[in-house]
Amino acid sequence: MNNSAPAVCPICHSNSWNFLFETHDADLCSKHNFQLYVCSECNLRIVHPQPSADELAAFYHEYYYGTEGGLGILQKYFKSIAGAIRTRIASRFVNSGRLLDVGCGDGSFLNACELKGRYELHGQDLSEISKKRFMANKNITYHHGKISAITLNQYFDLVTLWASFEHFSNPIDELLQLRRLIKPGGGLLIMIPNTLGLQARLSFKNWFHLDVPRHLFHYDHRNIQRLLEQNGFLVTNVQHGMVEHSVYGWLQTLYNILGFRFNLLYRLIKHGQNENTIQNLLQLILMPLMICISLTLHFFEIAFRHSGIIIVMARRNE
Ligand SMILES: [Zn+2]
Repeated sequence: MNNSAPAVCPICHSNSWNFLFETHDADLCSKHNFQLYVCSECNLRIVHPQPSADELAAFYHEYYYGTEGGLGILQKYFKSIAGAIRTRIASRFVNSGRLLDVGCGDGSFLNACELKGRYELHGQDLSEISKKRFMANKNITYHHGKISAITLNQYFDLVTLWASFEHFSNPIDELLQLRRLIKPGGGLLIMIPNTLGLQARLSFKNWFHLDVPRHLFHYDHRNIQRLLEQNGFLVTNVQHGMVEHSVYGWLQTLYNILGFRFNLLYRLIKHGQNENTIQNLLQLILMPLMICISLTLHFFEIAFRHSGIIIVMARRNE
């Protein structure tokens, strides 16, 4: 890791960073703790020191894209619902043409788009697991590797990033690469966690969507708009709340606050591994009440436009 002081803020160019807190890897890939700093001018948060590329690769274990067996069936239903919701949101923004999904992962969004048949579909990801899942699908053009390796300049009508922008270690470089791929006037849709949302503010380091160290930069609904508009985009809409991410975010965050093993339910569903039977049973008993509380908080955060998850829609300037 690079242990020098945090660099100049990529959004406001300040070099005034304040230490926020130290936390661990929620997915248990690393035994190290990680420090979060916040820019005193624009509220951008960064993991510092930033992990090297090799270290980052080790933070994505074999279960990152989910499992097929055990509780993987729950995850499968969750992802198919999420895919359908995302397709509806994307098609309201740009309803046809060429679509690139950056960080397409297991392909749940692209597969849902394929069913609708509205777009020429492309996906990009760095993962070998993602590559294997797409190789057999002839309806989706898969770009394995960095965004900078895609040579289709001004080709796409819409580029989507569903929970992947916060994983970039050089957000301005990546944003300029995305701009190169999008047609003038074309759309860019970014779903990210929001550090000004109620979930983050009330839960501090217990926030489910913190996901350090995979999330390297942590944005809010103001500074992401500033970043986009400084780099050749015009933000047309910021949607607060994404039902499946927001409600689950509250549910897991509340369990974390209550003192259950950190992200235990998430790992049970994602990995299918029962780490603690008693705590899992207790979580199951509490679940109807916790879902009601999570839904209430979800509607509350939308009403006040301070959701834990936001979707930013922008158009490339000419
Ligand atoms: Zn800043």
